Amino acid sequence: MTDKFDVIVIGGGPAGYHAAIRAAQLGLKTAVIDAFVGKDGKAALGGTCLNVGCIPSKALLDSSKQFYNIAHNLPVHGITVENAKVDLGTFIGRKDKIVKQFTGGVAQLFKANKIVSYFGTGKLLKGNNVQITGNDGAKQTISATNVVLASGSVPIELPFAKFDNKYIIDNAGALDITEVPKRMGVIGAGVIGLELGSVWRRLGAEVTVIEALPDFLGAADADIAKVALKEFNKLGLNIKLGAKLSKAQVKGSEVHLTYNDKDGDHDLVVDKLLVAVGRRAYTDGLLADDVGVKIDDRGRIEVDEHCHTGVDGVWAVGDAVRGPMLAHKGFEEGMAVAEWIAGKSGHVNYDTIPWVIYTEPEIAWAGKTEKQLKDEGIPYRSGSFPFAAIGRAVAMNEAIGQVKMLAHAETDRILGVHMVGPGVSELIAECVVAMEFKGSSEDLARIVHAHPTLSEAVHEAALAVDKRAIHKGN
Ligand code: FAD
Ligand code: NAD
Repeated sequence: MTDKFDVIVIGGGPAGYHAAIRAAQLGLKTAVIDAFVGKDGKAALGGTCLNVGCIPSKALLDSSKQFYNIAHNLPVHGITVENAKVDLGTFIGRKDKIVKQFTGGVAQLFKANKIVSYFGTGKLLKGNNVQITGNDGAKQTISATNVVLASGSVPIELPFAKFDNKYIIDNAGALDITEVPKRMGVIGAGVIGLELGSVWRRLGAEVTVIEALPDFLGAADADIAKVALKEFNKLGLNIKLGAKLSKAQVKGSEVHLTYNDKDGDHDLVVDKLLVAVGRRAYTDGLLADDVGVKIDDRGRIEVDEHCHTGVDGVWAVGDAVRGPMLAHKGFEEGMAVAEWIAGKSGHVNYDTIPWVIYTEPEIAWAGKTEKQLKDEGIPYRSGSFPFAAIGRAVAMNEAIGQVKMLAHAETDRILGVHMVGPGVSELIAECVVAMEFKGSSEDLARIVHAHPTLSEAVHEAALAVDKRAIHKGN
């Protein structure tokens, strides 16, 4: 007999596991099918984020920051440490332990919420039946009133630089390097290139980043991107803009690259090449031909504003659908879909999804950039405040960067906040709350912020919108 559920979720990543847990909380009989197999050969829940994305990358960013600070930050405090060394076994092992803790945590949460787990590949058939091919090859079919597709994304492969995950590596490969490469090439100065390029640069690799576009971090506000580029150059990330890779060939234990820019062709030899040119929605083998779920021109599952595919009882969430490829975007969509299925009011505000890049300095933003406001003809006022004038940042020896706030010229409603500097991954949350409540710069300017804290930069930027920042000439 076919097992029958209220909800089947295909994909146990951030979007899928949030959908499943919320559905179970709402009393729906729920199953999750997930295909991910970890480097130990065992099935692991949590998808890209917990296994080879957000969490392991942040673990390595933190470890490498500790090492880098020994030589580059501690001496200012009068502390010197001779002969600091990195034991890569421990470095990578710590990350693996954290990954296990969190993927195991999702399994525990499934148990606690009585969610049934299937390990294998799910294929949606007509009539909301789902065929599972288990990791052992065994096949079975289950069915549900509602199916949530949460199959996530995979790295885009360049045809002339195919992953071998030894010399030409993707994000998973860059999280498991066993010896610090002397020379590392990174294709793409996007989020992964900058975060993982920083990890290996801090450990001593010579890192060259080849970026096709002429502008650095085009999605960020231009003022913020400018500060960030300067700081990344100081770290020693050699970022080539407007540069296109045309050839990558593994020769022995080296990768020989050719890229061209406005000055012509250039050759580069590296020991590892990280290709991080974006990710694509993953739907391979997910849908039987006759189910009627549509795929858009970028390979993503088509959905409406309620993440519904247009096929009765079939929904899709996370990286597999339109919108930014961020774990927290998937979390919210997953929970909202479960609520819509249960007849409740789910909610996702796509206008206030924060972006954070966990480099040093960190970069964070929410809402519109100054360029977007100009292009859309929206009248605005802008206020910026530097961390150089924030006592806490100076005391930490991290007085780099700024907070920039953009508010409507007439209503003063906050339209965007852009930051580069210490701790901005946390500071952005206050601005998201203000934006979510349709707050004005004056609202933030009137709120008491503790002294001395980094959050004073947000307060002062809000004051600066009205040209009345206290610790800076406006
Ligand atoms: P995924 O996490 O990709 O999960 C999909 C799951 O579905 C996978 O386990 C997959 O194996 C499984 N699956 C696919 N097809 C099937 C099928 N047919 N049957 C069964 N199972 C299937 N985002 C942030 O917000 N913050 C960060 O700091 C951050 N850092 C990142 C760092 C790196 C290196 C990378 C690569 C990504 C990072 N991201 C970050 C992005 C984040 O990981 C993704 O946005 C998020 O994982 C997407 O969640 P998802 O559930 O949609 O898909
Ligand atoms: P990305 O879109 O952030 O950056 C890719 C970069 O590669 C772009 O700047 C693009 O112009 C460049 N590029 C594309 N083709 C190229 C080519 N042939 N040669 C040179 N440059 C080329 O993609 P990513 O860094 O691979 O990350 C994928 C996604 O994963 C991100 O967009 C983000 O959604 C998610 N992610 C988020 C975080 C975070 O939230 N901190 C961290 C890592 C990844």
